[in-house]
Amino acid sequence: MAIGTFNGGIHPPEYKELTENCAFEVMPAPAEIVLPISQHLGKDAQPVVKKGDEVTVGQLVAKAEGFISAPIHSSVNGKVLSIGKENTPSGFPKDSIVIKSNGITASQPNLLPPLNLETITPDEIRQRVAEAGIVGQGGAAFPTYVKLSPPMDKKIDVVILNGCECEPYLTRDYRFMIERPDDLIEGLKLIIKALGVERGIIGIEDNKPKAIKILSEKVKNHKSIEVISLKTKYPQGAEKMLIKAVTGKEVPPGKLPMDVGAVIQNIGTALAIYDAVVKGEVLITAALTVSGKGIKNPKNLLVPVGTPIQDVIDYCGGVTEEAVKIVVGGPMMGVAQFDLHAPVLKATSGILVLTKEEVSKNPETPCLRCGQCVGACPLNLVPTKLARYSQLHKYEEAEDADITVCMECGTCAYTCPANIPLVQWIRLGKQKVLQMQKERMKN
Ligand code: SF4
Ligand code: SF4
Repeated sequence: MAIGTFNGGIHPPEYKELTENCAFEVMPAPAEIVLPISQHLGKDAQPVVKKGDEVTVGQLVAKAEGFISAPIHSSVNGKVLSIGKENTPSGFPKDSIVIKSNGITASQPNLLPPLNLETITPDEIRQRVAEAGIVGQGGAAFPTYVKLSPPMDKKIDVVILNGCECEPYLTRDYRFMIERPDDLIEGLKLIIKALGVERGIIGIEDNKPKAIKILSEKVKNHKSIEVISLKTKYPQGAEKMLIKAVTGKEVPPGKLPMDVGAVIQNIGTALAIYDAVVKGEVLITAALTVSGKGIKNPKNLLVPVGTPIQDVIDYCGGVTEEAVKIVVGGPMMGVAQFDLHAPVLKATSGILVLTKEEVSKNPETPCLRCGQCVGACPLNLVPTKLARYSQLHKYEEAEDADITVCMECGTCAYTCPANIPLVQWIRLGKQKVLQMQKERMKN
């Protein structure tokens, strides 16, 4: 068990203590769910139900369209109320299937046939993962089936399970690691089998000694799997940082982990794969941490996908008088919410209710040219320059300075003593440059 890390990064307060001892609770079915037909990267799924249809838990309501897509299933028994635009946690409205639930929490009545862990083939694993609608649980929601089907010319030699959970407040991966270690290892073995590799690594930040201890004990009987302890530092869980810390390899700008022979999967994804193969379940439950000093009863919850954020907050006792901001995801990369009817999605990792004390920042001042953002950027970018190009609409210069390489981790903005909203400017500039590149491809 080595201690790995990467260059740059920051050490924000962790606040894990608010929920790290909260075992998962199953949240009951809400009165209504909202299922956006795009809860993944790639093409929207295509609805296969219409207004007025009765649906049951686990029933397919939208089928995958094309290679990079994922099907959507109902997480409740009920009736389709409407199909149309609804707000989502990203802040953008998306076509969604709204289902009125009968309010009864039920298990999936029509499970897929369970498959044998020993005799299952790589094709059967991929097929099951696709059918179950599994997407990456780390936030990007990339369809897992695609990640398990690398092009023939890419030689994969290691699967890394991301047990870093480096965003402050979030503890759902930690809870999974200590509550379901055996299932997690079987899930990792399925990924290893699907990709035909010989080595699996579980990378865990060293602020989770209990998870490291439990999993290290468990993997003693699996000689292809090892647990590696990583320094606690944000953003240790970002794919490129994790690969660097675990294998020492650098993923070049514009390249993917598979270009250096690695596939990264999230803890929740490995468990979803296990559940799909062994129990025949489709992905209709989101595992999330509800935390922050502004929520009355912080919890780790298993929530029916599509549950409105407001229902989750109510289930946790509501907000305190000091609450000022609600964020979906972690505090570094999450998105502030303006409509609490927006739903929990397959890859939602957390809902944070933050107080003034937790979010307060001094007013913005001009850049001090201190260079702190440059020293902290884990990708060796020059954030102050990228933000400035974006402000000045100098998109070609921004492109030359690698703005599209930025992973929007927020590290630079966190360090900035002038409180310049660096990430917002960079995100804006990045969108413009990506648009520009798309136009160029058309011509
Ligand atoms: S948000 Fe982008 S520029 Fe800022 S530290 Fe992260 S990767 Fe670097
Ligand atoms: S950290 Fe802030 S003040 Fe310092 S150079 Fe970067 S943008 Fe300027």
